[in-house]
Amino acid sequence: MRRILCIAAHPDDSEFTIAGSVAAWAREGRDIAFCLVTTGGAGTNEHTPDNTGLIPIRERESREAARLLGVKEIVFLGYTDGVVEPTLALRRDLTRVIRRHRPDVVICADPTMRWYGNEYLNHPDHRAVASAALDAVFPSAETRAIFPELLAEALEPHKVKEVLISGAGEPNIWIDIGETLDTKCRALRAHVSQVGKGEWVEPLLRGWAERDGKRAGVRHAEAFRRIVLVNGA
Ligand SMILES: [Zn+2]
Repeated sequence: MRRILCIAAHPDDSEFTIAGSVAAWAREGRDIAFCLVTTGGAGTNEHTPDNTGLIPIRERESREAARLLGVKEIVFLGYTDGVVEPTLALRRDLTRVIRRHRPDVVICADPTMRWYGNEYLNHPDHRAVASAALDAVFPSAETRAIFPELLAEALEPHKVKEVLISGAGEPNIWIDIGETLDTKCRALRAHVSQVGKGEWVEPLLRGWAERDGKRAGVRHAEAFRRIVLVNGA
């Protein structure tokens, strides 16, 4: 599974969720790309009135986080933060990214999760992007007759072999991030506009990694739902 494409709604979503695994895979020499659907322009209430001032800051922070993790490429789709819907236009844009990058594995969030525990309502952008991403993986990316306009861009169908869903209600695979938890924390702290000095980053991410590690029998892990679309290909 050499090529991995991580699709997220916001610039820091991957750093909160999958960055320990991403850093581990990068160290193994895998080719990882991030696709960020929104600009992150709604990430704080502190910038210019329409928050356009925040957008270049978030792009810079994303590039620095990706560099720390060993991610080679970031695709910015530039959707408006906070109001994403799982439209056909978004599905087409994600299908385009998949056909261009031709990943073996696509990683996205769980579109079925409305809340986590008793303290977090899942952001609608997370659900919308995850829903469109899964629909882009199957059937859109691999089916010639869906979005024929992409054929005109010389983007041939591509079959993704595996999907890894983060924040899944029912995970079935755990990645050991014992060696990369520190890198994950550094990458999240690169999003200064979101985390400030970020003293809380390390205990938060460590706590989540310990919780998931318990299920896996290791000290620190990230959990995924793995769906294999092709066996042995
Ligand atoms: Zn987010």
